[in-house]
Amino acid sequence: MAERYSNSQNYSIARGRLRLPGRLASLGKMVRVCQNRACLQRRVVWPDWLRKDDGVCLQGQWYCSSGCFELAAQAVFRRLLPSPEPARRRPHRIPIGLFLLSRGTINNEQLKLALDLQKEKGGGRIGKFLRQIQAASEQDITDGLAAQWGCPVYPLGQARDFLKCASLLPLTLLETGRMLPVHHLRSAQMLYIGFVEGIDHSALYAVEQMLRLRTVPCVVAESELLEALNSLRHSESEPATVFDSPASPVEMARITRSYARQVNATDVWIARSGRFIWSRLQSALEPKDILFQALGDVS
Ligand SMILES: [Zn+2]
Repeated sequence: MAERYSNSQNYSIARGRLRLPGRLASLGKMVRVCQNRACLQRRVVWPDWLRKDDGVCLQGQWYCSSGCFELAAQAVFRRLLPSPEPARRRPHRIPIGLFLLSRGTINNEQLKLALDLQKEKGGGRIGKFLRQIQAASEQDITDGLAAQWGCPVYPLGQARDFLKCASLLPLTLLETGRMLPVHHLRSAQMLYIGFVEGIDHSALYAVEQMLRLRTVPCVVAESELLEALNSLRHSESEPATVFDSPASPVEMARITRSYARQVNATDVWIARSGRFIWSRLQSALEPKDILFQALGDVS
């Protein structure tokens, strides 16, 4: 059944599928080539129907067997493991306390008092201490963050659209990243995501990769976010499997392969979001999410 192909032929491979010219194009839709360069089957073109039990796509690239998939997954985990923390929540913006001072929302004495309190408590967000001394309201802090980040404020307390789209992302990611999908504009494939501490661009990038849609950041009030997350805790249907201990790329790939077989996954996507590496396994049923703790020294 197998046909051999040669690189000298006038066709190319994209995402594991052969692109054939003219009348052969329909054949290209039926056959795939494994993207593992060391694969012994790589130069053998197999019809899809012979491969569907074992082959799986990773990051849009097709692998002929769970062994080839696992090797490719190891490389993806290895690439994602170094922490992107320094790039998270771009540090070049002026602190929110100074920003509120420059806008005249608070005065020098209030800022100094809040900073002293922050120091006394050994850290914490300055907005919390400004509210504690009643120098600023939650609305002031939310508006200040929105202006600082150039994003709109989303009125989460009045709009309940998040109930329809929050399940697009694992609840654990929302809780640890303090963020929430607040509105899904299906026609434009856009997802509005609310934050309370500044925009996490690594999380936005991960969501765009995983869901293949555009994200739009906005700012939401902290109390409204906490209330929304609380209501989601009672309605989560398919909780993600969370591995709290740091694992090596080899272990993460082995675990992902095992779950992929268990749920008959056809497509697997892996991305880094905050302190987790997130694997999403897509099959004919609901997607299966796995979250690996990515902080810690493993290799
Ligand atoms: Zn292969």
